[in-house]
Amino acid sequence: MPVNTDEPITTNRKPKLLIVDDQVLIIRVLHELFKDSCDIYMAHNGLDAIEKCTSIEPDLILLDVVMPKMDGYEVCKILKANEQTAKIPIIFITGSFEEADELKGFELGAVDFIRKPINAVITRARVNNHLALKKQTDLLRSIALIDGLTGIANRRRFEAAIHTEWLQSVRDKSAISLLMIDIDEFKKYNDHYGHLAGDDCLKKVAQAINEATGRPYDLTARYGGEEFVVILPKTNHEGAQLVAKQIMKAVRDLNIPHEKSAHPIVTISIGVTTMIPEQTSNFETLITTADQALYKAKSTGRNTLSSIE
Ligand code: GH3
Ligand code: MG
Ligand code: MG
Repeated sequence: MPVNTDEPITTNRKPKLLIVDDQVLIIRVLHELFKDSCDIYMAHNGLDAIEKCTSIEPDLILLDVVMPKMDGYEVCKILKANEQTAKIPIIFITGSFEEADELKGFELGAVDFIRKPINAVITRARVNNHLALKKQTDLLRSIALIDGLTGIANRRRFEAAIHTEWLQSVRDKSAISLLMIDIDEFKKYNDHYGHLAGDDCLKKVAQAINEATGRPYDLTARYGGEEFVVILPKTNHEGAQLVAKQIMKAVRDLNIPHEKSAHPIVTISIGVTTMIPEQTSNFETLITTADQALYKAKSTGRNTLSSIE
């Protein structure tokens, strides 16, 4: 199963709105209101709503409180208890004017209420406000996971991803590989060409590494300083070595002059490791082993890759 990419609302896509109500009439009214501005999904009962939330990952849910079998409060509780759906904002649709009902909804994590009968102007205003907030939250969340200098994933994103991918590999009993990459003699590069040129070089190397990894679930991240990591899910050792070689070639092909290095251009060293995770092992081992492999690559003369299986 793919890692949840949590695609933010961007200007390129319409927000996804899930409308949950057992009354067809209410669904019809809401659909009419938002059909031009949103991609609309509908559910007629609680179970269907929960199922759609995990498969669609809507940006906002309009959730009826009173429904047969499972009511809106129950649906809300279940969605909030699941990490994948917990952050989706929920607006309750209710016929009740009781303060206690409203309080209960807010306590369960709802962001707002809309009253029946539906008032078009108020409903549109509330929904649009919450969609704007969601867009902002998505943006902030995605910025928090990107390295400011190179534009690729940062260490925080890497740590979240390695955790998820590791658990996935345990479930699938599939191989997972990790590449630990370090630019050779980079201190000398900075000393000789200056820090700004150093930054520029880091950006180019990051892009080259990123572009050299082909599959959609491969993740390239800046691990720190002039070090990068690549997670290669469902990739055996031969496959990982192949990717490592492609990355080395991609960086060499940048042809960035480095006259203080043993080689006249910027090169990298790579530590490659692969594991088939077990319930008893953990991903820290994967990282330390890749680190050891990288150390080996450095001590055997740099501009090379070294493997520990
Ligand atoms: P080795 O081949 O053994 O990896 O040697 P090295 O010089 O690359 O390694 P070392 O860890 O001694 O130096 C890393 C240097 O990376 C230190 C610093 O000058 C540079 N560096 C780290 N982060 C940045 C950054 O964000 N920008 C720039 N310009 N340089 C950085
Ligand atoms: Mg280095
Ligand atoms: Mg280093």
